[in-house]
Amino acid sequence: MPKLCPHRVNKPTRCDAKAQDGSFPANPDVSLPGAMASTGRSHSALTRILAKLLLLNLLFSAAQAYSLLSDSSLRAVPLGQPSDFDIHTGTLLSPFLIPRVPGTEGHAKVQQHIVSFFRTRLPSWTVEWLNTTSKTPATGSSQIPFSNLILRRGPPGVKGGDVAWLTLAAHYDSLYRPEGFIGATDSAVPCALLMHVAQSVDDALTRKWENEGEGDGLEDVEATGVQILFLDGEEAWVSWTEEDSLYGSRALAEHWESAVHPPPSTYPNPLSSISLFVLLDLLGDLNPHVPSYFSTTHWAYQHLSSLEDRMRKLGLLETRPRMQFLPEKDKRPEQFTRGFIADDHVPFLRRGVNILHVIPTPFPKFWHTLDDDAEHLDDATIGDWARIVAGFVAEWMELDGVIGSGQKTEKGFARDEL
Ligand SMILES: [Zn+2]
Repeated sequence: MPKLCPHRVNKPTRCDAKAQDGSFPANPDVSLPGAMASTGRSHSALTRILAKLLLLNLLFSAAQAYSLLSDSSLRAVPLGQPSDFDIHTGTLLSPFLIPRVPGTEGHAKVQQHIVSFFRTRLPSWTVEWLNTTSKTPATGSSQIPFSNLILRRGPPGVKGGDVAWLTLAAHYDSLYRPEGFIGATDSAVPCALLMHVAQSVDDALTRKWENEGEGDGLEDVEATGVQILFLDGEEAWVSWTEEDSLYGSRALAEHWESAVHPPPSTYPNPLSSISLFVLLDLLGDLNPHVPSYFSTTHWAYQHLSSLEDRMRKLGLLETRPRMQFLPEKDKRPEQFTRGFIADDHVPFLRRGVNILHVIPTPFPKFWHTLDDDAEHLDDATIGDWARIVAGFVAEWMELDGVIGSGQKTEKGFARDEL
């Protein structure tokens, strides 16, 4: 779908959870445990010194966790090119612009497109599946297959359970009815954007990790990686209910909560290793207005919004909207409500994961109609989203000075192995 907004669901119980990678702003009220703070004068002085050191360390860690790209690095972040996003010939987007109902031939073709893209053009990324089946209210006793695809690139030599994963997600299935529905914004474009992001940062990640391997003192920096989820079965088959929607994301969140990383691991399970879950949906229409939905991750929204603002001021974006795509950078805490849009992030939100939901309100006017097709997309808007989201990932992964520098490595080029 997602379900038409604003849709209230049960109040999340753990959505105040701190980012697992320490990137949440450091708390200035940090104090040491009471047992240490009450053991005499000399200990009090020591306590104060230790407290300051701890605070400095936290502030330093927070600053390290998200460092801004320089203007020259911003310029090096690739714009979405027609060769990738043309609706007829774009190598990333055009294969998605077909009906993709789970269990159909079109659905299988799109799966093949995703897998062959990563295996041939980005072979450093691992490819995993999480397959499940479910009955739907539209298909009787048949078990419909739903398959999530998980692509990861983390620092070499670091076990998956020790990596904080910046997680980017979109759904690749399309609506069952009306027949012939394409879902260009819902969510063909977001899927192609995720491929563009992976392609945009791949070589820079290689260079960054090679540099770190050369002993520049960064060995103790927390391991961070990028994880991309192509989620299946987001759409309802008849009408949106808890059971008839989010087939893929519900299965994945449940599986990742119960899976165990072998000890000793920094993160006990895959769910806890998600530093931020960025969900893209309904993108590609003109003049999107994407609010900040969650006070707990407003800091991340502000980074994304600032990046858009800087790119506009540098003349790096093609569109000239009256308002930014992400206009709520200055939203105040009391302006947030508990309402949010039901979408693939909900099973993760309910388990305490930090969510950044990049979806416009209002939805595109052609939402869930046959007009959500290739011809209604706006090329310039797609190109700008491509650059903004890739820039966000480049900042998160600390690629300043390495993004866009040098030539593509040999392994970055397409290979004919499939
Ligand atoms: Zn939809």
